[in-house]
Amino acid sequence: MTAVREATRLLGHELATRLRTGELSAREITLAHLEVAERQNHALNAWLVIEREKSLDEADAADARLAAARADGPDALDALHPLLGLPVAVKDLVSVAGGQCTSGSRIIDGYVAPYDAHVTERLRDAGAVILGKTNMDEFAMGSSNEYSAYGPVSNPWDLDTVPGGSSGGSAAAVAAYHAPFGIGTDTGGSIRQPAALSGIVGLKPTYGRVSRYGIVAFASSLDQIGPLTRDARDAAALLHAVAGRDERDSTSAPVPVPDDLLRLPASDDEAAAWLEGKRLGLPREYFVEGMEPGVEARIREAVRALEGAGATIEDVSLPHTDYGLATYYIVVPAEASANLARYDGVRYGRSVRLPGADFIADYLATRGDGFGPEVKRRIMLGTYALSAGYYDAFYLKAQKVRTLIKRDFDEVFGSGIDALVAPTSPSVAFRFGARTADPVAMYLSDACTLPANMAGIAGVSLPCGLSNGLPVGLQFIGPPWSELELLRFSRGYEAITAAAEWRRLEPAQLTQADDATGPTPAERAARLAAA
Ligand code: GLN
Repeated sequence: MTAVREATRLLGHELATRLRTGELSAREITLAHLEVAERQNHALNAWLVIEREKSLDEADAADARLAAARADGPDALDALHPLLGLPVAVKDLVSVAGGQCTSGSRIIDGYVAPYDAHVTERLRDAGAVILGKTNMDEFAMGSSNEYSAYGPVSNPWDLDTVPGGSSGGSAAAVAAYHAPFGIGTDTGGSIRQPAALSGIVGLKPTYGRVSRYGIVAFASSLDQIGPLTRDARDAAALLHAVAGRDERDSTSAPVPVPDDLLRLPASDDEAAAWLEGKRLGLPREYFVEGMEPGVEARIREAVRALEGAGATIEDVSLPHTDYGLATYYIVVPAEASANLARYDGVRYGRSVRLPGADFIADYLATRGDGFGPEVKRRIMLGTYALSAGYYDAFYLKAQKVRTLIKRDFDEVFGSGIDALVAPTSPSVAFRFGARTADPVAMYLSDACTLPANMAGIAGVSLPCGLSNGLPVGLQFIGPPWSELELLRFSRGYEAITAAAEWRRLEPAQLTQADDATGPTPAERAARLAAA
């Protein structure tokens, strides 16, 4: 039990070292994580499926690769990817051949993915162990994971609160030590916001950095796949594994993936020294109205710490930020309504057949029954925005404003600012039910993250302390292809706060999450709704 606990507390790069020295095997590491994940899934509901047998087979294969490399000598051992033999939690919208891929929806319940997504192939090449598939908001629409057809997920910091969304399952799993690595997708904030609310690191790469081949499409011009981890070095390693050009996604860019992602400094001094002389922009529009004072306080402290380490902080303005939310909720539902047209009850997934009814009636019944309320809301919004007569007024107009949002960023980065520093989410984790009755309140969760998606640029969120006992996320936003720099900023910030007391804290309700007889997240949500 102690050994298990200890193995799960290690970071990915620490586990990688122990694998190479032979101190731990991939099988032992996998078993340790499986045990915690299986034990806590009752209380957290982070996993839609845990693949015990398959992951142990993958672990054995990794151990065999390790043994062969060890026999070949130090160079062969060095050539192994740092992800080899290590558990990854994969959001359930990534195709893994032969496994489920529900995208959090009932409409594709029972569908079996016939092939591997690009990211899955890359994880396999690296020798990673896919522990299972994680819970998520239906079709990645949401900021709390409460829109999953398979029930909400609890935040291990406070089981009555949400872990953020839509990659809430991966975020909770990584925060609760079920896996050192998680895969999420970010269309408007769904990697960074759950990372912030769950107290971990989450990176949204530049649009085109990671191939979207084999993931369930939400809003194709914004969707990006990225890492959720417990530190910057692990995020860099996971990004390194999955990034790069792929012929099967024409929007994946032929931009080289820097190998320096695997060489972020281990030494705190070196990591901190990198911050010296860097120019950071503080966008005034990101200190939005309604932001929690505790969040703002942590962000200002972080900014002072960065300044103390020798970075210059400059006030900057991104004047079109205010239009981000409005344009996002035109463009995204429009693309989603087109992407979701394929769920017709004929080609795959759920199919409702009414006796004696025609095809159209079956189609309507399938979609009426299979989609949840948030998805229906988006389809209606999107179909309306694209309909004849409204296209110019809404969709075209929104695309033009999108260009203005992008130009704001171009100007700031063009003036020599290396990165922007901002809050990730205006609030810490909120209680179940707090925002489901008011879609606009839920949409506001992403006010600080979605502009980066609209502009197609990169952003990362990392923990920067607590407010009311719950994690606060600090965001760095950078120009296209700046992932390495953003992770160096992140690593630098980790280094200068390495001694902070909050870094020693584990999620406060992990012990309760061990209780497999207590309430499930759905039961907690129901109790709160009744209270
Ligand atoms: N919360 C936002 C939305 O619902 C972002 C979701 C995401 O990034 N997948 O659209």
